[in-house]
Amino acid sequence: MPKQKECPIGFCTQCHALYRSVTVINAPCYMEYKGKRCKGIVRSAVCPGDFVQCSECSGVGIVARIRCEKCGGEGWILVRGLAPPKGRA
Ligand SMILES: [Zn+2]
Ligand SMILES: [Zn+2]
Repeated sequence: MPKQKECPIGFCTQCHALYRSVTVINAPCYMEYKGKRCKGIVRSAVCPGDFVQCSECSGVGIVARIRCEKCGGEGWILVRGLAPPKGRA
């Protein structure tokens, strides 16, 4: 039985890649797309809250032995940062 993935602690503002290392928070995103480095910055996130566990793969990242398409194999889906900000709470 595959293990459920740990909740990410950061995400890229641009490509929404998920990160699990504290050292990359507020650093440039590591992802490359077509040979070009992503211009996004990794922001810290609160988990759970900013992420929801993927319902498709139950947080494992794999469905029927292949990478889950819904979450890209991360097991978690970013729910913050996608909607426009609603102002200060
Ligand atoms: Zn990025
Ligand atoms: Zn999934």
